[in-house]
Amino acid sequence: MKEEIVNKIKKDYQRNRLKATEDLKTRKEEIYDMIPRMKEIDQAIASLSLELARMLISKGNDWVEKTNYLRETLSLLKSEKSHIMQKRKIPAIYFEEVYQCQNCRDTGYDAHGEMCFCYRQKLINELYNVSGLGELLKRENFDAFDSLVFSDSKYGSEKMTPRDNIKLIAKHSQHFITHFETHDRNMLFYGSTGVGKTFMCNCIAKELIDKGILVLYQTAFKMFEIISEHKFNRNLESYANKDNFSMIYEADLLILDDLGTESINSFTTTELFNIINTRMITNKKTIISTNLSLERMSETYSDRIMSRIISKYDIFKFYGKDIRTRRGPTC
Ligand SMILES: [Zn+2]
Repeated sequence: MKEEIVNKIKKDYQRNRLKATEDLKTRKEEIYDMIPRMKEIDQAIASLSLELARMLISKGNDWVEKTNYLRETLSLLKSEKSHIMQKRKIPAIYFEEVYQCQNCRDTGYDAHGEMCFCYRQKLINELYNVSGLGELLKRENFDAFDSLVFSDSKYGSEKMTPRDNIKLIAKHSQHFITHFETHDRNMLFYGSTGVGKTFMCNCIAKELIDKGILVLYQTAFKMFEIISEHKFNRNLESYANKDNFSMIYEADLLILDDLGTESINSFTTTELFNIINTRMITNKKTIISTNLSLERMSETYSDRIMSRIISKYDIFKFYGKDIRTRRGPTC
């Protein structure tokens, strides 16, 4: 999928460069129509420059005198051109290719061969597009994270207050992000609705996408819909569904939200095992978020699913009062 994204960006650059060339050609033709002498000058400059280059390489008889003469002629032509441009108030940019990014001339790489900032931005934009989160991450990210909305009073039989608990989870999540490329851990977030699970998932997604990592957010319900479409309706499957299906396996991070809201049957539990297991083997990370308690999860899913979760997932319980009434509907 990342390769497809890179290819798409390269095609965009190619299109932009082509457009810059075509626009220049159109502008020149407009000028030539208005001032035919400009066309003569440009043609003369082009052919004399070529002759000069050839002479400098071949170094034939009297090449020094000949090249000096050519240089002088070129200089006269160029000053005539600039004189006309000044007189007719034609900006210099009219005779240059105007790129969307002048820094890399729409190639994606600057003069030192380094990746241009525009390339990085395009990559991130595409990663946002395929993540399934897009605009949401502008609002839900660590900058908007505020542990103060969580209560600092003891909650039921929990050892930590909801605030200390969320701070601990945020700290662990930051560690998960910082060492994303080197660790082999996953995370399970469980707890009732409105206690910040999805918000924390989004915070993590934003940080990782900004690092250029391929992230997919999908609810369990939607994910199993995509899988069943792929398995049972392959002939009629849309390209979008094919992409969505491959992303489930290929995304560097899969955020599987609302596990337990899908219809639970042997198909979904087998597929869930395949996803968890394959992603583990290929060292792709997964974050699962669920409203089910651990006991309920064990009753619902097979032992082989649970054993993988217990061994390879860091498990965090979210608890406290529903904070959505205080901070909006998306927690
Ligand atoms: Zn650029």
